[in-house]
Amino acid sequence: MLKFLAKLFAATPTDQVCADCGSKLFPSPNSAATYCPNPDCPARVRRWLVHWATPEVMNVPGLDAALAEQLVSSGLIRDVGELYTLQAAEVAALPGRNPATAELLVTAIATSKARPLEHLLHGLEIPHVDAAVAQALARQFFRLDAVFSAGEPKLAATPGVGPDAARSLVRWYGDPVNRRLIERLRKAGLNFYAQPERS
Ligand SMILES: [Zn+2]
Repeated sequence: MLKFLAKLFAATPTDQVCADCGSKLFPSPNSAATYCPNPDCPARVRRWLVHWATPEVMNVPGLDAALAEQLVSSGLIRDVGELYTLQAAEVAALPGRNPATAELLVTAIATSKARPLEHLLHGLEIPHVDAAVAQALARQFFRLDAVFSAGEPKLAATPGVGPDAARSLVRWYGDPVNRRLIERLRKAGLNFYAQPERS
């Protein structure tokens, strides 16, 4: 996996190591920040959950950094797909949580299933696929499956996407771990379609 990611970013690791798992950090392709390449890194999963929950992504109010930390360290959540099988009773049993807020969280998670494709794509944290690229993909392909079956040349030729994101999308979906995540999200009933254009 490390080798695969190193090739993906064609970048060398920085001198910094991840405080949570000890892996060498890589420069992030989406920002100036660094990035832990270990898919099982608890810090990475925590940050992913917080990103997933933001209003401009999947919009899950209540899923903040503190709760993300609890969900990951308790072993309840290992990736965003597991949010959709989370039970209110499991959340309520965490220290400092109660049935009422747990119920609100699970409802917010269920509501997030309807978020349109552009937000889902942004939430997946595919390198080089930021909000603007996600929007361009949704506009052009309308369905998630059409994005992943388009192939690199068609993706790269899409206005607002470009070669880096196209290559990254093809490689991301080429990883069986990611394909399994997509199938779990599908099974959980997430919306794989773009918001219809309003006229
Ligand atoms: Zn790490």
